[in-house]
Amino acid sequence: MSLKDLLDNSKDKSLSGQKWHMLRQSITKRLLSGGNSTIAELSTELQSSVPTVTKAVNELLTEGYVIDMGKITNSGGRRPSLYSINPTCAYFLGVEVGISSMSIGLQNIKNELVSVELGTSFILENTQKSLLKFCELINSFIEDSSVDKKLIVGVCINFSGRINSMEGFSYNYFFSENRPLNEIISEQLDLPVHLENDTRAMAFGEYCEGVVDDEQNIIFVNYSWGVAIGMITDGKLYYGKSGYSGEFGHSTIFNNDIMCQCGKLGCLETEISGWSLINQFKEAVKEGKQSKVTIDESSSTLQHTAIIAGAVNLEDTLCVDLVTQQSEKMGRYLSILLNIFNPDLLVIGGDFAQLGDYALLPIQSALKKYSLGLVNRDMKLKKSALGRRAGVIGACCVIKEKMLFPLINN
Ligand SMILES: [Zn+2]
Repeated sequence: MSLKDLLDNSKDKSLSGQKWHMLRQSITKRLLSGGNSTIAELSTELQSSVPTVTKAVNELLTEGYVIDMGKITNSGGRRPSLYSINPTCAYFLGVEVGISSMSIGLQNIKNELVSVELGTSFILENTQKSLLKFCELINSFIEDSSVDKKLIVGVCINFSGRINSMEGFSYNYFFSENRPLNEIISEQLDLPVHLENDTRAMAFGEYCEGVVDDEQNIIFVNYSWGVAIGMITDGKLYYGKSGYSGEFGHSTIFNNDIMCQCGKLGCLETEISGWSLINQFKEAVKEGKQSKVTIDESSSTLQHTAIIAGAVNLEDTLCVDLVTQQSEKMGRYLSILLNIFNPDLLVIGGDFAQLGDYALLPIQSALKKYSLGLVNRDMKLKKSALGRRAGVIGACCVIKEKMLFPLINN
């Protein structure tokens, strides 16, 4: 029996079988959502006798769903044992795909990352060959990990761009009209697959395991090659009707006649993004500005990180000037979101978060200048805590939530 079976309806249709399944299930749910417990606590909460609960817990111990954490130290008299869900009873796989690399991570049920590979070389192309290679890399990762595949509950894959998570379609990459992409990948991996927008997964990663404390209304900004936001409202990811929410970078803001990557003119990304930073840098150098950083002309992507590194590591004046100017502009346009959403917390993530105060201070100052004082006063601004791992950790958390939350709360 898998953890999912344990949390699902009983297959034993006899009354006694169903009753026993429900007790085992209630103990598991209680340990999953409420943390560690003693037999006495479980007995009181589940209104079942101590001997019955003991028998069920022993069974779950033998089957590997529960572990004995040892005796409680701070109670007088006979010290009871504390029980916990076994962290190795179920795993969740998270995958993030970029244009030239992919990252994979495996988390146990206690959200501990047990295996991770960041930045594995992979060229994302809209071909069947590229899709098969992608699945092959995931299968190899699973084989190389020490985890039994049967214990992996599901996989979440993050793509950039338009993702319809509900129907399993990716519109920017590996699009097929005939069949949802999650079904195709699921067949290759022999595991349930969920597709997620990369920024939304990063936002959820920060919410579950990153910089978020107890805030429930959060805007996460993925300030990288492109710009997008992930929103959490009342502790839940916000999708919008079809899952396309968060395309902040493609808001038409500037009258600059610069063509955006989406095909429209004057999007936010045309002046505030990694790719526009490269153009601004090249323009400045052409005008005669000096810099210690050189851009690799043969590589069309990801060179914005060289400029970011130039600011952080070399304190290169041109790099610092450009990223500061962009961040000040970013703060100005984020102030619109603050006025509309009044979040508890604004998180700056993505490649530009590596800039630290070079990005955060101009953003903060612009937010103060342009947003309403009352809205700004009760909002915190933080930098991503998970950095490059945000996407993979977020993907693991998303699939755990999708697979277990409906079962735990039914
Ligand atoms: Zn655009």
